[in-house]
Amino acid sequence: MIGACLLACLAASAHAEKAEKKPVQKAEKKADKKAAKPVATPAATEIEPALELGVLDPKRIRTLTNDPVLGKADRVDGDETKGVVAFTFDDGPNPDTTPAVVDALEKYNVPATFFIVTRRLVGKNGEKPREILDRILKAGFEIGSHSVSHPNLGKANPKVLETEIDGSIRTLAPQANRAVGLFRPPFGAFGGGGNVRLKKLGLTDVRWSVDTLDWQAKNADKLRTKVLTMIVKQQGGVVLMHDVKPITAKVIEGVLDDLEAENCRRLAAKQEPILPVSIHYFLKDGKTARPIPEPVQKRTAAYRAALPARCAKRPSPPPPQPVPPPAAPPISPPVKATPDGKPAQR
Ligand SMILES: [Zn+2]
Repeated sequence: MIGACLLACLAASAHAEKAEKKPVQKAEKKADKKAAKPVATPAATEIEPALELGVLDPKRIRTLTNDPVLGKADRVDGDETKGVVAFTFDDGPNPDTTPAVVDALEKYNVPATFFIVTRRLVGKNGEKPREILDRILKAGFEIGSHSVSHPNLGKANPKVLETEIDGSIRTLAPQANRAVGLFRPPFGAFGGGGNVRLKKLGLTDVRWSVDTLDWQAKNADKLRTKVLTMIVKQQGGVVLMHDVKPITAKVIEGVLDDLEAENCRRLAAKQEPILPVSIHYFLKDGKTARPIPEPVQKRTAAYRAALPARCAKRPSPPPPQPVPPPAAPPISPPVKATPDGKPAQR
């Protein structure tokens, strides 16, 4: 949170929190029926000894969150950096919808962070979601925890916070075979206890600034247009979408195509493009932006360098249409005059 926008950001965040609440609950209720009960030990392969210790010994949970690159940063609200955009996707993985989202991101070479509801990963029903998580990681996307079962943690007691936060990390870190540094509270709802818990574990709280409200969208074309309009208007930010939603899976390719088209238009007009970047670009420690790891910087630079070639391959936009001459006024029937010579009132 940056001082000057404290109140505005709080208000925006509160709005977003409310907004995210209802349908996700619905989605999660559906998932309730499908998902098996969470188990303490996930079906992970190739667990490193240190991580295994973390799973077995609750006191070692911090080993599982020891990510010096993404963890332990200040809360991310999405307004930390202007001119770049980081996409984030919540509530998955969902075998019906997440693959299309990953396909689109890969097609347009756009980084993203997936916030995982870890109950989806466990048991027999978690088999396909675990495969999708593997694909997400192998493709180089970032991940974070979005709790075990997606409850509202706004007034959660310490026991529930531990079950939902620590529990999700105990599943996710071994399954991903890496430490997890990011957490996003479901519905953006968090009380003081949640903040304390994240601090203790060294997890970075990641919110958003571009609230697409994709979960309540009914019209795919309108959603597609809205997302790019918001990104352009806000000069980038952290975009919140839900990879569990069919409408999001449907529109994401179009959204990324629109972003590329907008950036090509900007290049042609000698303006700075709004580069799609990973969440690293929004991390801060106090007032200081956290240094971007070299491979991440190189990735962004490579994207920027490749943009003109991508633009050259795009179908050229339709030439601007000449402005049509103003339409002639419609011919109206002569107005009958009243006996005193004034036009009759209609
Ligand atoms: Zn969510």
